[in-house]
Amino acid sequence: MSSSVSAAEGGAGMTAVGVKPGPILLLGAPGVGKGTQAKELVKLWGIPQISTGDLLRANVRNDTDLGKLAYEIMQRGELVPDSLVNEMVAVRLAEPDTLNGFILDGFPRTLPQAGWVDSRLASQPGALPVVAVSIKVDYTQLLRRITGRRNCPVCQTIYNIYLQPPKNEGVCDVEGASLVQRSDDTEPTFKGRMRTYDSLTAPVVEHYRALGRFAEVNGDQPIADVAAGIVSSVERLRAQG
Ligand code: AMP
Repeated sequence: MSSSVSAAEGGAGMTAVGVKPGPILLLGAPGVGKGTQAKELVKLWGIPQISTGDLLRANVRNDTDLGKLAYEIMQRGELVPDSLVNEMVAVRLAEPDTLNGFILDGFPRTLPQAGWVDSRLASQPGALPVVAVSIKVDYTQLLRRITGRRNCPVCQTIYNIYLQPPKNEGVCDVEGASLVQRSDDTEPTFKGRMRTYDSLTAPVVEHYRALGRFAEVNGDQPIADVAAGIVSSVERLRAQG
């Protein structure tokens, strides 16, 4: 991590200026690096990452009713129905580790999901308002990031065979486990996910832009620089009150 990010570290869920991070939404198209950045912010602030994609994949792995329903939808690059995703997020938000804040990664993805989370947070006494950060990367770069992405099934470290390969091909540097590719990280599914993003999720970005407490960060930079951009945006927006 770069010194600029480390310098912002305040520990125990606080930023350097003593600001509680509160609820943070990471927005952006598939492959912009929401998951990677959420993990950087978790390390920095000690608040949890809540990734609806990860929660859904866990349901698929565990063969739950939700997982059975979600699998085909995810393979097509479409969205799981709002009511099911909202319920899944409600259960996760009820856990006590969300008290100082949390990073929602991949949620909300539709305007009804945004309306749901906005009113849920507004109804919690003392809860900070949401800060939304949109990460931007151009289409060609996204395609390379998605089709090159590989994960360690043990520690969840994310690699890219073109942009950030492991030291030994196909093997995690940390765990030595064989890397895996997400089944929806193929070019045809990526195209479906981008169509879904443009029609249903891009309006969510505009919703938060219009509300204020919104920042845009260039995602086509080294991981630490993107993280530093997000941290300074969150600090600035929180300081504005
Ligand atoms: P992700 O890991 O965020 O790219 O999500 C993978 C897939 O899970 C998406 O392509 C959707 O099919 C599904 N998914 C994740 N988050 C949501 C959400 N907020 N609403 C509906 N479907 C979702």
